[in-house]
Amino acid sequence: ALTEAVQRGEFLLAMQPQLSLVSGEITGAEALLRWNHPGGLRAPSEFINIAEQTGIINEIGDWVMEEVASILSGWEREGEARRIAFNVSPRQLDRSDFFARLRQIFAEAEVPLSRIEIEFTESAAMECSASVLEEIAAIRAEGATIALDDFGTGYSNIARLRALPIDRVKLDPSLISDIESSDKARVVVQAVIHLIKGVGCEVVAEAVESVSQADILRAMGCDTVQGFVFAQPMYEEEFMAWTSNAERGCRDVA
Ligand code: C2E
Ligand code: MG
Ligand code: MG
Repeated sequence: ALTEAVQRGEFLLAMQPQLSLVSGEITGAEALLRWNHPGGLRAPSEFINIAEQTGIINEIGDWVMEEVASILSGWEREGEARRIAFNVSPRQLDRSDFFARLRQIFAEAEVPLSRIEIEFTESAAMECSASVLEEIAAIRAEGATIALDDFGTGYSNIARLRALPIDRVKLDPSLISDIESSDKARVVVQAVIHLIKGVGCEVVAEAVESVSQADILRAMGCDTVQGFVFAQPMYEEEFMAWTSNAERGCRDVA
């Protein structure tokens, strides 16, 4: 069904805005995959693992990049200078032509690489080869931003963190879920934020669900938040309508 899903055009991208705690502006959005399965909408947790195991993630990943390129090219024409982040699985990095395809897709859509952010999980970044790291560094030098996703869940090699070609680190929700109630959770998050900023990266907190969590994160120096506290993932039309009157909704958080 997954193979056919690509051919039948059953995938959709939902975009979740990211809010700068520094400027109060919507700086970009993360594209999140949805499968419009005939039996009902499926979340990535229900199919990404199978897509990775079977290798279908490569076709799906290409579709994701093409769709992001098409959305960004529309924005570019309308003068919208927002960035879209998308997720890349380790299996895609194994493919030798991945970065060439990425360049080709965005070049054909006439979208500068400075409009994209590529998200890799912490575990993917810790495991990938020196040649893949060079490729990541090259695409970054061409303007793309690189984010390390789900930080705090895998086995982070702190020495390697310092050397990775990355711009932003996304704190895993498990790190921040109880910062309102637990002193220890706050101590850990504060130390992690110091570490990330100390190596020159921005900190993004995701799955932020309450204003008080956002307040604590801002006081700790977190740069950007993403979460239900101000917006759910939305399809493009809804996203555009939302961003055009977002200031109202973001005032509580930013
Ligand atoms: P992720 O990249 O860490 O994405 C963040 C997840 O947190 C999303 O789940 C998002 O909907 C959810 N989220 C956002 N705000 C909140 C909040 O306030 N509270 C809670 N509880 N959750 C929140 P989603 O969309 O189900 O995606 C799950 C994972 O699937 C993603 O985690 C990512 O690893 C993977 N994924 C999504 N799209 C793609 C894709 O295009 N390619 C690949 N390879 N993986 C993808
Ligand atoms: Mg992500
Ligand atoms: Mg994440």
